[in-house]
Amino acid sequence: MALSQSEILAWLREERPERLRELYARANAVRRENVGGAVHLRGLIEISSHCERQCMYCGLRKANRSLERYRMTREEIEQCALTAVQLGYGTVVMQAGEDDALTAEWIAEIVRWIKRETPLAVTLSLGERAKDELKLWRNAGADRYLLRFETSDPYLYRTIHPQRFAGRADRLMLLKELKALGYEAGGGVMVGIPGQSYASLAQDLLAFRDFDLDMIGIGPYIAHPSTPLGSGQLRPRIDPAEQAPNDELTVYKMIALARILCPSANIPSTTALATINRQHGRKQGLQVGANVVMPNLTPVKYRRLYQIYPDKACIEESATDCNQCLRGQIRAIERFPGRGVGGRGEIEVDTGVLVASAPPQFVQIGEQGYGQ
Ligand code: SAM
Ligand code: SF4
Repeated sequence: MALSQSEILAWLREERPERLRELYARANAVRRENVGGAVHLRGLIEISSHCERQCMYCGLRKANRSLERYRMTREEIEQCALTAVQLGYGTVVMQAGEDDALTAEWIAEIVRWIKRETPLAVTLSLGERAKDELKLWRNAGADRYLLRFETSDPYLYRTIHPQRFAGRADRLMLLKELKALGYEAGGGVMVGIPGQSYASLAQDLLAFRDFDLDMIGIGPYIAHPSTPLGSGQLRPRIDPAEQAPNDELTVYKMIALARILCPSANIPSTTALATINRQHGRKQGLQVGANVVMPNLTPVKYRRLYQIYPDKACIEESATDCNQCLRGQIRAIERFPGRGVGGRGEIEVDTGVLVASAPPQFVQIGEQGYGQ
């Protein structure tokens, strides 16, 4: 759907509730028409909190010595996948810091096992890994890869996301590689990063559209006191009038605009959103355009150690508790839990029967550069 950069900017600055209701109603209608009423459940397994990176915003950064680290065993991960099947989820998401001890072959073996033993789709979110590793995992059966690009502002990106290897492709380039390998590719951003302007959020939304992302993760930036950005030690310069807020309202606007610009994408209502509004955040995200939630399957003993940001929602609940809670929230807003794998463009009806599947659009992306 056509929305110019200036229209997007005007929506991001809009504060009148009656106008915002119009935006949300429009996004909800686009969601209904293009991905239906199902809310897909993707079981999240946080397989390792070790990380070689020094992202300035994230509690898992290597320099954060105050964090006790863990790495799940293969058996534990496979047990989580079996729990996902029992709970009726269509997908598991294996997420971790950029952990070199997760060797390419070890991950590939787990992916092969899940694909052989279960009907689950497998999503990986293991950071910026080498192209041959991404290819190996795709050949092993991995369906999707999540790699948020965090911000499309190149100056802010370099400031908050130091490179690990000189000359390695950045995240936007890697998203192109992932698509070329046949993954469903997921990008996304944090909202309200210090130094992030309204204009750069508008640019992020245009990048979602121009990169034709299959999945778009949008959540608030939450300050972590043990990071340079969260402690205030690093302060990217910006005119205060241009600084985008990291509040829930701005996240709702971003989700709604992403839905309008990318009608068939899978868009989660994120845990970070549930963290800043525990009671209503997830439900409201689903009511302004989102169609995915990510119940946590990580064993409870590890959850509080995967501390990306403080006071994360859902760290005490068991997998069964998370499942029941989320299904209750989905029903409370008169939607229904998806039963299939929930690939891009799939529409389910409430019986759980798949009625339509749009072919994935593997277009040549980014030839013209994003945001033009
Ligand atoms: N290491 C992988 C990566 O960086 O893609 C996956 C794990 S990483 C913790 C997943 C996402 O957490 C990041 O893409 C980032 O958007 C989000 N994140 C990290 N720190 C955050 C913070 N302080 N507030 C909100 N989200 C944060
Ligand atoms: Fe590591 Fe990902 Fe956190 Fe960066 S965002 S420090 S890569 S876990």
